[in-house]
Amino acid sequence: MADKYDNLYQHGNLAIIMDGQYTGTMKLSELLNHGDTGIGTTNALGVEMIVVDGLPYGINGKGEVEILDGDAETVPYANMHYSSSNLPTFDLENLNAAQTADFLIAGNELKNTFVGVRIDGTFNNVVARAADKQETPFKKFAEVASSQNLFTKDEVTGTIIGYYSPELYNGASAAGMHLHFLSDDRTFGGHLLEYDVKVATATVQRFSELQMHFPVNSKEFLNNDIEMKMIRDSIESAE
Ligand SMILES: [Zn+2]
Repeated sequence: MADKYDNLYQHGNLAIIMDGQYTGTMKLSELLNHGDTGIGTTNALGVEMIVVDGLPYGINGKGEVEILDGDAETVPYANMHYSSSNLPTFDLENLNAAQTADFLIAGNELKNTFVGVRIDGTFNNVVARAADKQETPFKKFAEVASSQNLFTKDEVTGTIIGYYSPELYNGASAAGMHLHFLSDDRTFGGHLLEYDVKVATATVQRFSELQMHFPVNSKEFLNNDIEMKMIRDSIESAE
């Protein structure tokens, strides 16, 4: 029987974000009832969020890291799960991002399932991004991404948390890896664009269930005419 560690919870979907629907549609405190580990963004793309061991951190457009207030923040899109403490760990050394993904996903026969990924260690060539908080009327994400803020660091120790999604679900989430980073000293992070592993340990958590929660109280969500081509193109260029 499936237990809570088999369940990946998702609020909203990536298509909503690509379309520019950045208004938070779930309280962060409610989201945090669905796991102790996760990633997402907050209202108006205020921060890139990473939940580590139950604590929600946000990285804003200036690259500043803060602990988020669950009662004050809302989220338009996020994934959460409960981290199992019974997972095998993999030692990684001198791998680029593509090699890491290949080793962890294809190497474990996981390409057709949703997977939670956590990598703790020291990384080089880290490029992370965070958008500026957006103002209404919201622009489409492709336009926001073209002026996003990039933060880079070498030889940084920290934690990567995120998810692998199969190609089949591109649009509901970003096919492939969607990873966020937070440094151990809690001063650097964001949505990961590039990294190399210097030395690290990793776990992969396979999910047999995907629980999708839709913002059915959002008129914007209900009445949106989804342009699949725009969404796929945006994911391609921005992620
Ligand atoms: Zn992200």
